[in-house]
Amino acid sequence: MSVDAQMQYLVERCQLGENEKKARGLLVQLLQEVFVEFFPDSHILPFGSSVNTFGIHSCDLDLFLDLENTKVFQARAKSTTEQAGEGMSDDGRSEDSILSDIDLSTASPAEVLELVATILRRCVPSVHKVHVVSNARLPVVKFHHRELNLQGDITLNNRLAVRNTRFLQLCSGVEDRLRPLVYTIRYWAKQKQLAGNPSGAGPLLNNYALTLLIIFFLQNCDPPVLPTVDRLKDMACEEEECVLEGWDCTFPSQSIAVPPSKNTQDLCTLLAGFFSFYAKFDFASSVISVREGRALPITDFLSQNKEEAMQEEQPTKTHHQGPKLGPLNLLDPFELSHNVAGNLNERSHRTFQRECQEADKYCRSLQYQRKSTKGKSWGLVRLLTPHGEVPHAKAEQMIISIPFKSASLPEVLRNQLHRAGDGFRLLWFQKVCSAVEGVFQSVLRCHLTPSSDAVFGIDTAVDAAEEMETASSSFNTSMNDSCDSVESRSETSPLGTAVLGGKRPLSSGSDASASPQGKKPRLAKRGKPEVPHWICVQKHMVWAGRRKVRRELIKDTDSRPEGSCMELESQVTDHIIKIEPELKDPLEFKVQPQMVGETESTKAVLKFEPTSDKTGVFHDFFHFLEVFLPKMVETLIEREVGST
Ligand code: ATP
Ligand code: MG
Repeated sequence: MSVDAQMQYLVERCQLGENEKKARGLLVQLLQEVFVEFFPDSHILPFGSSVNTFGIHSCDLDLFLDLENTKVFQARAKSTTEQAGEGMSDDGRSEDSILSDIDLSTASPAEVLELVATILRRCVPSVHKVHVVSNARLPVVKFHHRELNLQGDITLNNRLAVRNTRFLQLCSGVEDRLRPLVYTIRYWAKQKQLAGNPSGAGPLLNNYALTLLIIFFLQNCDPPVLPTVDRLKDMACEEEECVLEGWDCTFPSQSIAVPPSKNTQDLCTLLAGFFSFYAKFDFASSVISVREGRALPITDFLSQNKEEAMQEEQPTKTHHQGPKLGPLNLLDPFELSHNVAGNLNERSHRTFQRECQEADKYCRSLQYQRKSTKGKSWGLVRLLTPHGEVPHAKAEQMIISIPFKSASLPEVLRNQLHRAGDGFRLLWFQKVCSAVEGVFQSVLRCHLTPSSDAVFGIDTAVDAAEEMETASSSFNTSMNDSCDSVESRSETSPLGTAVLGGKRPLSSGSDASASPQGKKPRLAKRGKPEVPHWICVQKHMVWAGRRKVRRELIKDTDSRPEGSCMELESQVTDHIIKIEPELKDPLEFKVQPQMVGETESTKAVLKFEPTSDKTGVFHDFFHFLEVFLPKMVETLIEREVGST
């Protein structure tokens, strides 16, 4: 219904489900149990998208193996062993345990990671494809978990990542609008190939950097949607003070400590705002600081003695080099000497800004916010069209298929079809058409006119009148000129529609198709094939709120599912018509039935086309019909057959 709703829907569709989170939690627990055997007092901590509230179904599992306590343990064990002489260590482990191979105080990260890889390979079930990437900024062990189909990364010395993950969680807790924005923008960036480096390293933005760009934008809204990291620091209490590797990482642990924003803009506006903000952002002269919530002049970072300058500003931190400058400079909120977008090249930066400009332009167009009445893509759909694909400008085909399911047909009908011999498909198709007519007329209270395209030729009034007659009877009579193998030539359905069994065998080729009355489409006067159809007019939104009305009507005493009882559904419609106002302009649409397929794939195909939809409700009605119509048709067929 709206861009905001689309964004919320995207979150629901993409976010990690409870079971997925649980499965990840269990794997972390298993790894913890295994690693602690080899690295006493070690901790394995998840960070990144699995826990930062922005995770999607396929996201990787980032893990930090904290060996600080193991080092202490080792140091203690070493001194005890030295004092006690050779033999067993104080926890009773044999000294030829796998741990005794490595001294954590002197081993290189690569050596430790090799050991981690060995443990994973040998001791963790279902883990495979284990390998060490030692040349990354942070060396990592990669693995895959078969059953969970999950990619895992284990890093060492990555306490800052756990902390910045906590920061993202806090922002999410403070501001509800952040998640839909992050999911949407992450999805947009993926579709436009702007973010996500499949092999880990690459020139594109990673999701962490993209999330920081969103937070920075929100800090710069008027009034701000999120506070700066400096402001957050001021809101923290003494116990929450945290300094890691010399960087101040203090912020409140609970979102309640952060006052809510005064900004009331909706998601749709904020999303458009994000694109507009970066479409014209002066990247060349700025260094983005989420810490201060402002763009710092790049010149501040070009000076020779920047290290000294920064040292003065940040007395708590140890000696750090300045950030690696590039086309997009985005400082980590805590590790202030780190440009989290330092991997971007000129080209990927240009593409990012160009895509922001494109999106900005689109968000200014009417299509962004206005739901299309013609089935054209609008809102997020257009925005999220993959890079290089043109969104389908032409209206999607609106088709509802009703399959021929011989097994679930009522016994009586099965016998009738049996007797119909070759004409069984046509007989079934006519039952379907009759039932469809019944659903529209008697259940949904549509005004229905059987018609034919060929009727409306302007030149021959006589022809038109003649055709009109044919058309109006097109769903009532058929095939009786050529029926002889069908027992009942003309049965009147409970809906007042005469239904006839047809005998003319349909072509058994795969292109077998027939109009409702089984006639071959004949050419109309002006060369246009005759296509029989119904014109339906609906004056009420009888599809909206049906479940609630149904519940009220049956007062929970009846658990019949939707579409299984004609009287009840008709009552639901009548109730809605009674209480809801009429549509300002009635909805008018065309339904064109056709039968296709052979024995296995026989189905009735109903093609829908809105002919007048000034209130823009047709799509909702159609989506309702997709589920409702096939069920209701089944019910009506059963009912009709049962009454004969
Ligand atoms: P996804 O895995 O779905 O792409 P993510 O949120 O896990 O998204 P990653 O890019 O995998 O993001 O990063 C995982 C974590 O690693 C981040 O939350 C952050 O803590 C840390 N991280 C990633 N990139 C950087 C970086 N350039 N600088 C500092 N920390 C980073
Ligand atoms: Mg990740």
